[in-house]
Amino acid sequence: MPPHEHSNTLYLSRRESDEYSDNSAHHLSPPVSPSFSVTDTLSPTSTAFTDYGSDHDDYYEAPPLVLVAGFLAPSSKASWDPLEEIQELAIRDEAANGRWLLRRKFILVTPGMCSSLHDRACEIFAQLKGGRVDYGEEHSSEEGHGRYGRVYEGLYPQWSATHPLHFVGHSLGGPTIYKLQELLATGFFATAGHTNTSADWMRSLTGLSAPFRGTTAVYLLGTQPYPHPPGDVNPLSFGGIAYRALHLYEHLVPASLRRALFDLQVDHWDFSAHGLWNCLRKSPWAEGKDNAPYDLCVGARWRDWEKMRESKKWSGVGARTWYRSFATKLVAPPPTPTTLSTALTSLPLRLLSYWVQGYQFTPGTSAITPAEHAAAPNSFSLDPAVWGDNDGICCVVGQYHPGACKRCGGWYAQAPVGVAQKEDDEEDDSLPCLHRRSLNSRYAHYGAKEKEKIKDDEAEDEKPGVWHVTEVAGATHLDLGMWNGSDLHWTCWTDIVKWLGRVDEWAVRG
Ligand SMILES: [Zn+2]
Ligand SMILES: [Zn+2]
Repeated sequence: MPPHEHSNTLYLSRRESDEYSDNSAHHLSPPVSPSFSVTDTLSPTSTAFTDYGSDHDDYYEAPPLVLVAGFLAPSSKASWDPLEEIQELAIRDEAANGRWLLRRKFILVTPGMCSSLHDRACEIFAQLKGGRVDYGEEHSSEEGHGRYGRVYEGLYPQWSATHPLHFVGHSLGGPTIYKLQELLATGFFATAGHTNTSADWMRSLTGLSAPFRGTTAVYLLGTQPYPHPPGDVNPLSFGGIAYRALHLYEHLVPASLRRALFDLQVDHWDFSAHGLWNCLRKSPWAEGKDNAPYDLCVGARWRDWEKMRESKKWSGVGARTWYRSFATKLVAPPPTPTTLSTALTSLPLRLLSYWVQGYQFTPGTSAITPAEHAAAPNSFSLDPAVWGDNDGICCVVGQYHPGACKRCGGWYAQAPVGVAQKEDDEEDDSLPCLHRRSLNSRYAHYGAKEKEKIKDDEAEDEKPGVWHVTEVAGATHLDLGMWNGSDLHWTCWTDIVKWLGRVDEWAVRG
């Protein structure tokens, strides 16, 4: 069926398409552009978010894309630019090939930059749906912070299974979105009055350099492995010094100024009740198990995964959600940087990558405790040969997809990495995954031989509930998450924007 005759409403009308077909300039203004109401830097405390063209909802016909930034990254439009421009060019490019790509709105959410996955997911829910952040009674009393957070107007109050959203998360943003889907699927928000949530509220989930299985870099930056209690931080490490500096910042800088400058959104911790000295000595927040650095540990991600699987509340993938991850990796010899600024900004990450590559636990230490080792359903190990490759911050194998996997590795000691497993293995509780070595290669089961690659016409990426992993060699941790003018950033984002359009078609076809 020709695209313009398709029965669903996801296609641009012929009139709109023609408006884009006569201009091939690389930088353009959309011919029917609404007056965008965009603020350059978004205050995370603001209830009026950067909500492009909110007065022109009928201009955007496809489900919006929610953008979730990573650790210590304030959500600002500048980080994601030039996304609107990429979208306009993709619309034109698709139209030239007889395909209609609907324009979608981009929504920036602003969860706490150093907060745990759980707290961030709760904050994103309130920011999208509207209302007060509810961290949950059980979680709050376990972790020792207030149950409720800030109040938000709601960027997309109609969010539901019939009005789903796409999500892209960079770095910590990826596992944050995955946690949000878990909370949606398991009815966590029912006590806040949202009784109808499901995994289907998330149409797609894309992770960019996202440590779904954690990264060993966190141990290098200060988080102490076993035999220290989970969450302990070395006082002389980067993490130990940085968290104390943040406590001083929270104590000394007036709230109004913090909200405008750099808003950690940790009100629910009420540091003043703990006293500055106690926070500096051993922070109840930064040296506990409810903060971003802890959640980025491999041990924490394993613990969370096992807890989720044991609860059997959901399978770990949404049957109506499309999944993708872009695993970035620095390779030797490094590719020649295109500009001086790229060379300078990537240098620290290149140096860090050597450090992360060489990381291994010293004898007697581990990411999990001996009791956890003993109780683990599959023996746990972080083989440096498997976990060495990284993008300067995140290990490549940690970015593939959540959970252990008998095909693509993770923390299974016995996982025959690189060897394709039988598909009918009943014991295998790995999430379904397909991998490709670059944007231009075809998907295959991890470790499959060349002849076993999935043919394009088998359209494997049309399947929801399967993690589609793309390795991006020669890219640092920041290359896909922060606009740096590179061809790589432009190419990957163009691919993402076009793919989201195809996901909407597949979803409507059912
Ligand atoms: Zn919490
Ligand atoms: Zn896998």
